[in-house]
Amino acid sequence: MVNIRDLYLEEIENDLLEMGEKKYRAKQIFAWLFKGVESFDEMTDLSKDLIEKLKQKYEIKCTSIINHQESKDGTKKYLIELNDGHAVEGVLMKYKYGNTVCISNQIGCKMGCNFCASAKIGFVRNLTPGEIVSQIIDIEKHSGEKISNIVFMGIGEPLDNYDNVIKAIRLINDPKGLNIGARHISISTCGLVHNIKRLADENIQCNLCISLHSSRDDVRTSMMPINKTYNISEVIDACNDYIEKTNRRITFEYALVDGVNDSKEDAIHLAKLLKGILCHVNLIPINKIKDGIYEKSSVEKILAFRDTLNEKGIVATVRRELGSDISAACGQLVRSRQEEEKIS
Ligand code: SAH
Repeated sequence: MVNIRDLYLEEIENDLLEMGEKKYRAKQIFAWLFKGVESFDEMTDLSKDLIEKLKQKYEIKCTSIINHQESKDGTKKYLIELNDGHAVEGVLMKYKYGNTVCISNQIGCKMGCNFCASAKIGFVRNLTPGEIVSQIIDIEKHSGEKISNIVFMGIGEPLDNYDNVIKAIRLINDPKGLNIGARHISISTCGLVHNIKRLADENIQCNLCISLHSSRDDVRTSMMPINKTYNISEVIDACNDYIEKTNRRITFEYALVDGVNDSKEDAIHLAKLLKGILCHVNLIPINKIKDGIYEKSSVEKILAFRDTLNEKGIVATVRRELGSDISAACGQLVRSRQEEEKIS
C-alpha cells in the first residue's frame, strides 16, 4: 500500500482522477495531511464513500514522538518512532530569528565519521519523504511552536538518501504543504561530490553546508573516511560548480578538535583553500561522544582560529551550542529507545 504522505499534491490529484473523483479533493486531502491527521476518518469534509476509496488505496504512515527532553536553554530533543519500530531523533532550537527544527533522514549512517555518534548506530535504512516531513509536523504539534527553519543535520547523510530528501524538501517547500521557503532549509553533507553536482541542477534555493573539518587531506581522511572517495580538492571543485550555477553562498562547517585541526597554521591553510569562494565558515567546538577520541579546543583557541580566518578575509563565526546538556548538540543524536527507556 502507498503511504499517502510520500506523495506530491499532483500525484494525489492524478490518482483521484483515475479513481473517477474530482481533482480538487486532492487539495483538501493534502491540507489535512499537513495538519497532522493520522487517519482518513479525520478528514471531515470528505464523503464516506471517498474515505473508503482512499483507505483501499493508501495508508497514512505517521511518525510519533515517544519521548522528549528539554535543555536549560529551551532546546528540545525528541525521540521519534517510525512505523517499523525504529526510532530517529529531531531537535527544536529557538533562535531570535525563529524556530529551527533539525531532522533525521536515515536510520543510522554509512559515512563512518569517527567523531559522530550517528556513525555508531550502523545503517538500517533510508527514511521516506513522508517520514522526513512527518518529524516536522510532529514537533510542530507537540511543541505548539511555529517552525520557520529546517536543517538536515540530524541522523543520516542527506545526499546519501538523495531522491527522498529532495522530495521531502519540495513537500516542505510547497505553499500547500508546510510552506517553508527553500532559503530556510539547509542541507549538510560530508561531501558526496556526485550529488552536490546533482543538487546544483535542481533549481532549489536551499542552503548547502559542507562538513569540511580540515583543509588537509591526511587529517580529513583520519576523521572522515569519505575523504578517500572524494578528496578536498574534488569537494571544493563541486562547491565552485554549485556556486557558479546557483549563485548561493556555501557554509563550511568546521568542528574544532584540540591538537588535531585547530592551530594557527590550520587556520591560515584553511583561509588559503577558501580564498575567493562565496562562503561562510561555521566553527563548532567538537562535542565529545561516548568513547570518542577527540577533545574540544579551548575557547581561546576557537576565538583565535576565528580571528585568523577573519583577518585573512574569510567570514567565520562560532556556532552557539544548544542542547549539549541533553545530548542534542551536533553529532550527539544517537540514543536508542532502549537507552532512553533506561533514563525515564
Ligand atoms: N551527514 C551530514 C549531517 C550530519 S550532522 C554531514 O556530514 O554534514 C551535522 C553536522 O554535525 C556535520 O557538520 C557534522 O560533521 C557535525 N558533527 C557530527 N558529529 C559532531 C560532533 N561530535 N561534534 C561537533 N559536530 C559534529
